Amino acid sequence: MKILDYAFSEAAYYRKNLSQFQSKEHDDGIYCTLPDLPMLNIESVYKSYGDFIADPYQKFPKSQNVIIKRAYEFGGKMIKVIWDQDDYLEMQKSLSDLHRKYYDIEPHDQYCGFYTALYRANKIIDVDTTQLMDNGNSMVFNVFRLYDDKLEKICREMREYNPKWLLLQPSIAWLLAEFIETKSIALPKDLKYIELYGEMVDESIRKKVEEAFGVTTAYTYVTNMVGAAAIECPCRNMHVISDNAVVEVLKDGVPVFGEEGDICVTGLKNHAMPIIRYLTGEKGVLLNVDCACGNKAPIIKITKGKKFPFIHLKDGNKLSAYSILGAIEFANEFMANAIKTMEVVQTDLDRFEACIELKPAYSGWKKAVVDAFLSNLREDELRQSKWKIIFSDNTVIEKV
Ligand SMILES: [Zn+2]
Repeated sequence: MKILDYAFSEAAYYRKNLSQFQSKEHDDGIYCTLPDLPMLNIESVYKSYGDFIADPYQKFPKSQNVIIKRAYEFGGKMIKVIWDQDDYLEMQKSLSDLHRKYYDIEPHDQYCGFYTALYRANKIIDVDTTQLMDNGNSMVFNVFRLYDDKLEKICREMREYNPKWLLLQPSIAWLLAEFIETKSIALPKDLKYIELYGEMVDESIRKKVEEAFGVTTAYTYVTNMVGAAAIECPCRNMHVISDNAVVEVLKDGVPVFGEEGDICVTGLKNHAMPIIRYLTGEKGVLLNVDCACGNKAPIIKITKGKKFPFIHLKDGNKLSAYSILGAIEFANEFMANAIKTMEVVQTDLDRFEACIELKPAYSGWKKAVVDAFLSNLREDELRQSKWKIIFSDNTVIEKV
């Protein structure tokens, strides 16, 4: 596997840990099959973060050709993954090929999506408006304040833009579907497909989205670490995108098929930050069975993954949990990513409890972090709610 050779020669982490990777029979041989290699998890990546960035990307000119992807891993842990821009396009191309094959969507077909924060030149930009991206190839809306007036504006702008497909977080798709159904909103004329990603939802949500929009939906499995790792075919089986990733399911550390286990991913496209055998924290079942669509790649079923329950408001309305996620992302951007982990639970209509783990260097900055988070909440109901913030050293800050 090319990426293994590359990682061992170019990334300090794999080089330094070479002894763990060496074959016992041949002193100088490196194992060339994945199941013999040790696994990574979020803590191992945090601990040696800089060592995962390959040598060529530590210096000019490659260091200038990178994009930084920020996302939250399972359990609310934030991580920045560095990509070579060209690798990222390659990774997306493998997904585009399947869009075309399965759903008749071409790379130049316009789409709409939702974002928590936008970055320009890898710096966060604070905009609260609709943005056209990729030379007009996509139109994106932010996830904040998705009340009826904003949903109405979004639907109007979407209809005028007339996208062929939508790329949606399922909970946001549900909010739109609910709004479209109750207000009998007209849909974009050429819409034919909705792609869902980023969170696990039950079938009823998907059904509602398909009914409201009158189009087919498909899930993709996109992991922060390796990009698009799998996509559902029209038979509703999620096939691994073998050009982009190796997906394994491990039971007691051993790869299994047909049984539930820990999902472990290896990225095949990322040369800036090679990730070999990363445990995502999710659980799933890997199947090696024939599918009527003709795709021979294994099928992954996610059985335990990220969930973003709705926030319930006093007036009976709902907000998506991305409102809170966005506030964390903004707070982190201005606080040098001080928040390592954050889990939020709504305990009453106007009460929230959050458990926060800070980077050790920021343990003296608890109040400032809480202020940064609260001031970045965009919805009045959330800002005016009571917040109990519990830090990992059991310090509690309450905002009443
Ligand atoms: Zn299939």
